[in-house]
Amino acid sequence: DLDSATAPLPSVSTSNIERRWSDITSYAPKKKVQSWFQLPNGNWELGKIISSSGTESVISFPEGKVLKVNSDSLIPANPDILDGVDDLMQLSYLNEPSVLYNLQYRYNQDMIYTKAGPVLVAVNPFKAVPLYGNDYIQAYKNKSIESPHVYAIADTAIREMSRDEVNQSIIISGESGAGKTETAKIAMQYLAALGGGSGIEYEILKTNPILEAFGNAKTLRNDNSSRFGKLIEIHFSETGKISGAKIQTFLLEKSRVVQCAEGERSYHIFYQLCAGAPSALKEKLNLKDVGEYNYLKQGNCYSISGVDDSEQFRIVKEALDVVHVSKEDQESVFAMLAAVLWLGNVSFTILDNENHVEAVADESLINVAKLIGCDIADLNLALSTRKMRVGNDNIVQKLTLSQAIVTRDALAKSIYACLFEWLVDQINKSLAVGKRRTGRSISILDIYGFESFDRNSFEQFCINYANERLQQHFNRHLFKLEQEEYIQDGIDWAKVDFDDNQDCLNLFEKKPLGLLSLLDEESTFPNGTDSSFANKLKQHLKSNPCFRGEREKAFTVSHFAGEVTYDTTGFLEKNRDLLHLDSIQLLSSCLCHLPRIFASNMLNQSEKLVVGPLHKAGGADSQKLSVATKFKGQLFQLMQRLESTTPHFIRCIKPNNLQSPGSYEQGLVLQQLRCCGVLEVVRISRSGFPTRMSHQKFARRYGFLLLENVASQDPLSVSVAILHQFNILPEMYQVGYTKLFFRTGQIGALEDTRNRT
Ligand code: ATP
Ligand code: MG
Repeated sequence: DLDSATAPLPSVSTSNIERRWSDITSYAPKKKVQSWFQLPNGNWELGKIISSSGTESVISFPEGKVLKVNSDSLIPANPDILDGVDDLMQLSYLNEPSVLYNLQYRYNQDMIYTKAGPVLVAVNPFKAVPLYGNDYIQAYKNKSIESPHVYAIADTAIREMSRDEVNQSIIISGESGAGKTETAKIAMQYLAALGGGSGIEYEILKTNPILEAFGNAKTLRNDNSSRFGKLIEIHFSETGKISGAKIQTFLLEKSRVVQCAEGERSYHIFYQLCAGAPSALKEKLNLKDVGEYNYLKQGNCYSISGVDDSEQFRIVKEALDVVHVSKEDQESVFAMLAAVLWLGNVSFTILDNENHVEAVADESLINVAKLIGCDIADLNLALSTRKMRVGNDNIVQKLTLSQAIVTRDALAKSIYACLFEWLVDQINKSLAVGKRRTGRSISILDIYGFESFDRNSFEQFCINYANERLQQHFNRHLFKLEQEEYIQDGIDWAKVDFDDNQDCLNLFEKKPLGLLSLLDEESTFPNGTDSSFANKLKQHLKSNPCFRGEREKAFTVSHFAGEVTYDTTGFLEKNRDLLHLDSIQLLSSCLCHLPRIFASNMLNQSEKLVVGPLHKAGGADSQKLSVATKFKGQLFQLMQRLESTTPHFIRCIKPNNLQSPGSYEQGLVLQQLRCCGVLEVVRISRSGFPTRMSHQKFARRYGFLLLENVASQDPLSVSVAILHQFNILPEMYQVGYTKLFFRTGQIGALEDTRNRT
């Protein structure tokens, strides 16, 4: 049975997963000793085949149950000897139940990491597992442990960075709650341990509690959910020591500041501040209990089990000290947070029968004015009126109640988002790589995974677009480049099709008739609404195979990971993300320095980024790039940066939706494995030659190990002589025009000998 492990696998399209597996399994020998049988609940059960006649088989299950079933419904299982192999590539039968079983077998023994060819799969244990810390770090460094681990990935990245002199990236993906952020921290821990010495590594690790306090929140899916994407680029000097770092963040979920769903919280830092501020600070900021603030009240959830917000506050302050945010600045940061909380409590009174309002001059309004350093009257004006230019005249228009609320919330969101950006800037200044930019870098990407909920809005639209791009990067790297390289180098290798998601990307990016262009166009029209946007999509994109118009204001996109229906309600407003010029002017006139910095950043950004006639309408609104377009720009920049690195992929898997240890739901895991292409990768890697090296490099690297002189000194002859000396089997490598190609694991022996010599 083990022989089938090396049997060639058929070339099939990945677009039909069901067919793919039946094709692959049909290659298996007919003798099915152990088989998987799918129960009505969708789970697979392992049984032994007692007899088989024609189309029917009799199968017995562990508890003594015996069933007569259709033979075609059985899927071959691997022999016991392969239970829990640490690389899925070693499985003889590579079908879905076998992969699920293997991951579960390991998971039950706290072996949460498994390789899927070049990809590391990490199944969230939802409990402390004894796999981390200094002893483990040393063991991975010395290579005395070989089992798959984030440490092993980080170690490979460090080695390849210095060996190939190429920047590296560790790309972590997975659903919310799957463990991306924890995994990123574990990788950082390893890099810090190996590259430490200068002290900067300590600062780098301390950025985590800060960014989590300001950018994470409790959601229904994850008590510590990151509401932004993050790329941290860690720089190394020529001697392999960490010399600095740079953090880039993506698309913070601003709306959470002013609204969140039942059972969810706003950003951790608000609760930490209210719980942990010493009494002097509390007094200064006029801080009340969390339950007193409207913005925090809505979720009806104030604490997280097992988390002490006041202790967290202490940790965040300490971390801010470490990254050189002065005590003075820290106090200004807390004042901004308090201002946001008090803004949420500002209320309005109706002045006339046209619903025009002014803000109530109560303690909320007074506190906000005091905290940001402006006149109460100016604040009131900014919240209840709008200056407009009509012809050559400036007129002042009173706002209605709903307009005033939108204006107030927009100000709160902007202050918070600017504060977040400012903090990231401060951190980056502290971590800045000195002028001597010698070395190489390893980047770690922790970005939201594909999202598909009952109701999907603008945020999911952006997140899933980002995931399409990342998936293309993954595909390109693992499949396309691989194939192209084989072909270029004259290697005989069966072509493998893979799902190219270029069509879906075109649906988003095409100009002028793509989702993003049409969204921006509609956002510039003063009379554009979510329904006019939805109608425009239906009109222009109806023939696109990746697009489907839905009833009312909805549309469906066929993503690589499945179909998602988006409800366009709120799309235009979120994309425009307007802050009235009145609000910006208010901030720029404040006595406190942070609001002034925020205002000037906003104005700078508008000036720098304006490309089209966006938001001209309305006259006095700030002109700025739309959210979707800015995000697209960031994404392109990110992809460009990733393209120039050697990527290492980690796919995090969430085994249950309860955030609880020990429960492994097969259906949930399977859906995630399908989404991220893990199964496909294994199949392709196993049938390919993933390790490759140019003739020159190979000869240079291992030539000195040759025991006998080679007649000709050209790299190819030297290389072939090395291969012979080390008895590398012919089926394990191929010689291309410029490179040598190896199956997985073949270079190991050579490297070991080299390192011993
Ligand atoms: P989101 O997309 O919502 O930010 P995420 O993928 O970043 O989700 P994490 O916050 O990293 O998810 O993980 C969720 C929780 O799972 C953690 O708070 C922790 O309790 C647990 N967890 C994840 N990985 C591990 C691990 N390796 N060991 C122990 N617990 C873990
Ligand atoms: Mg996270």
